Amino acid sequence: MNVLEKANAIKNGELKALDNVNNYIKVIDDKNPEINAFIELNKEESIKKAKEIDEKIKNGQEVGPLAGLVIGIKANINVEDLTISAGSKTLENYIGSYDATVIKRIKDADGIIIGINNMDEFAAGSSTETSYYGVCNNPAAPGRIVGGSSGGGAAAIASEMCDIALGSDTGGSIRNPSSHCGIDGFKPTYGLVSRQGLLDLSMSLDQIGPMSRDVYGLSLALDTIAGYDEEECTTLKNEIPNFTEAAKEVKEKEKPLEGMKIGKVKEFTEVSDSKINKIVDESINKLISLGAELVELNFDYIDICLPTYYLINYVEFFSATRKYDGRDYGYRIEESCGEEVLRRIEIGSYISQQEYSGKFYKKALQARSLIRNEINKMLKDVDLIVGPTVPKLPHKIGNKLEPMEMYAYDVLTVIANLAGIPAASIKAGTVDDIPVGLQIQAKPEDDLKIIQTISAYEIE
Ligand code: GLN
Repeated sequence: MNVLEKANAIKNGELKALDNVNNYIKVIDDKNPEINAFIELNKEESIKKAKEIDEKIKNGQEVGPLAGLVIGIKANINVEDLTISAGSKTLENYIGSYDATVIKRIKDADGIIIGINNMDEFAAGSSTETSYYGVCNNPAAPGRIVGGSSGGGAAAIASEMCDIALGSDTGGSIRNPSSHCGIDGFKPTYGLVSRQGLLDLSMSLDQIGPMSRDVYGLSLALDTIAGYDEEECTTLKNEIPNFTEAAKEVKEKEKPLEGMKIGKVKEFTEVSDSKINKIVDESINKLISLGAELVELNFDYIDICLPTYYLINYVEFFSATRKYDGRDYGYRIEESCGEEVLRRIEIGSYISQQEYSGKFYKKALQARSLIRNEINKMLKDVDLIVGPTVPKLPHKIGNKLEPMEMYAYDVLTVIANLAGIPAASIKAGTVDDIPVGLQIQAKPEDDLKIIQTISAYEIE
């Protein structure tokens, strides 16, 4: 049963919301001690909410589009009364005092928030090994990292602990763990979804987005959370399409991707593991068999993507963390955080102090414009850019990587954040039983085309 069929079954009374919740609680009780995908659970409240929904349905009352679906939330998105630690000791005692805009919308749509997902500390990582709450295990590739930083959400989907998980993506944090766990993850166009209530990593790059087991989990979530928010000035005012209806329509077509031009980038292949390229090529062939036309593209700036991204990230993160000084809430961050977070604060502080000379940050912003312009130019010739999500396979838990090796996981995902474009990862296949993702990127505000492509790709 796909996520839309499940949502419909609940609305028809064929499946009780309460059973959906209880089934997931059973799985969580069974598997979470090993996987560590959830770091806080909201069981009683979820059961109460499920009973209310079932009661409404029984009485013929209207319920929301997410009615009875079970949802996990990354630990950096404010949910009232739950612990919003951002995976850090710094905020271990911080209880959300309000609902972020996306959470309000999920609650209004009758989604059930089952708990809080594990993550890399302050979202600054690609492995979910840096969480204060312990490492998260990969259910799809046992013994390996789950990816990150939204690793808990991806692991929760992959081990069937919930229907939808909300993550945040600054340089790949939704797409990277989705790739390593073999699930669907979507980073919207910058500004499509409100960031109000998200704890910033790097505010000019951060976006909230969904993860799920199929396109309908993504589309139902987007239909709920996307759209203008008067409390958040970076949200776009444009009209939002109905993602779920569009995903449904695609399934009816004989050649669903007819007329769609997809670009494959030579430099993306060059930086990726050959086994990954082989699997990704097979999935690109599948898109071609669905009607898409392949175009070869070149991107000359691959070498400057990581330095540009990390420089901006350090500076914006340094600035975002000044409020964690131990006075208003939490502990003083420099005294309570882990190694990677401290590294970013220290380098970010250094760069900020040096900035009068315009040597670093200003240069990074110029490089960002170059990258954005080049990507937009490439997207003039095609509808989508397709390729690997992550250039290498996830390492075994326990192997200690140097910072640069860890950052190397992000080379293909940071581009979408730097350019502000929408991007998703879906399962391309496996290499040595380890899931590998296909990344699909589109023009700004062409989020719908990505959803349609995923829907076509998943036609049974
Ligand atoms: N791995 C990247 C980083 O460490 C991306 C993190 C993210 O998207 N939150 O910054």
